[in-house]
Amino acid sequence: MHSWIARNIVYRSIELARGEPVTGYLRRISHIPYLSRDEIAGIQAEKLRRVVLTSYRNIPFYRKRFDEAGIDVDRLKLPEDMVKIPILEKHDLRDNYHLLVNPELDVRISRESTSGSSGNPLTVIKDRDKSAYVRAVMYRCYAQYGVDIGDKQARFWGVPVDKRAYFIEKLKDILSNRIRLSAFMVDEEALSEFARRLQKFKPRYFCGYPSLIYKFCRWMIDHNVAFGECAPLVVITTGEVLYDFQRELIERTLKCRVANEYGATETGVIAFECPEGKMHINADHVCLEILPSGYGRDDGDIVVTELNNYYNPLIRYRIGDVGSVSEEPCGCGMGLPVLKALLGRQSSFIVTPENKYLYSALLAYVFKKGVRQFQGVQDSKDELTVRIVKDDSLTDTMLSEYKRKLSDHLGKTMRIKFEFVSTINPDRSGKLRYFVSKIGQDV
Ligand SMILES: [Zn+2]
Repeated sequence: MHSWIARNIVYRSIELARGEPVTGYLRRISHIPYLSRDEIAGIQAEKLRRVVLTSYRNIPFYRKRFDEAGIDVDRLKLPEDMVKIPILEKHDLRDNYHLLVNPELDVRISRESTSGSSGNPLTVIKDRDKSAYVRAVMYRCYAQYGVDIGDKQARFWGVPVDKRAYFIEKLKDILSNRIRLSAFMVDEEALSEFARRLQKFKPRYFCGYPSLIYKFCRWMIDHNVAFGECAPLVVITTGEVLYDFQRELIERTLKCRVANEYGATETGVIAFECPEGKMHINADHVCLEILPSGYGRDDGDIVVTELNNYYNPLIRYRIGDVGSVSEEPCGCGMGLPVLKALLGRQSSFIVTPENKYLYSALLAYVFKKGVRQFQGVQDSKDELTVRIVKDDSLTDTMLSEYKRKLSDHLGKTMRIKFEFVSTINPDRSGKLRYFVSKIGQDV
């Protein structure tokens, strides 16, 4: 479908039918990132106050919580007093979703499920006003790279397994002008089918799991495939932590820029990488706080508050990722604050017998040549197993060297085992996890 038709006819009609004014919001919020830092902080404080007060007055769950914590909302100074508000955990959301909605609002809603990569999927309810803002923020981020609503997209993602959901997604894909390349059952045949479909469809941009796009690029190199004129303008990676080795290979193979997105099903896009390479937080959409980590560094648990949701807002929601915020300005001209480090899930840490926490990206720095894919699995505090899909160049000397490097970081008491496998499969949502912790750090 031509992008103009997709944007101005199909998308507008869907917006009207759904009661989801994405285009209108996009027009109203496009300028916000380019305001000064103080102006953005002012907008955020105003929105924060409105969300917190409305939630206290109208949502039974928050009223009870605030009262129990002894909070006098009329005297609450925001954002300074945010720390007084109790943290909303995933289990709170799961157990109380019927008490977490504003009964005063009669709205149309949609339901979405999180991928549940930590084993506990959540159902998230979104009213159309919130989902419109969420989508508008997403397109505002994409616009930095010349991508607009209705542009052709190749989506490297999971595909629903039950038939009805599959056909609904298929219809959505057609109406949204995108093709879907499935993260399940990725073998030689599937990858060559990817290439055939991409060359025919000529997407303006790719979007999806970095592990899958990386895998496809490896396949392109092995089979000497190049896209030439139909190469995408940008590759947007999302849903998993993006590693440097993936970015480097994807950019080199597709000869275009990789832009990293940080978001969640619950909230939409929280932060997005600008052309200068910084992750800017959408501060008019969420208020992001970092809780002290206990790991002895400046990073900590990320906690977010939604600023445009009056139906079932998340207030101080612990999203399950670890990161830190930078105060430094960015050369791109945006006044939005910067997420300095995004370290992924709490369960992404290897814990040593001495209780030292090491971010599992360490594995990506160790396993380079001779290893096509790897996955670290920690079954107990003193044992780490690394599953390896090797290629022909892997030698015993290289393996000993890898083991030595790991031992240097993890200490001599950690037993390290290598297990050679022919393939490593993604989890139920299609995400490939480079590290799996089975020692119960999940929130
Ligand atoms: Zn920037």
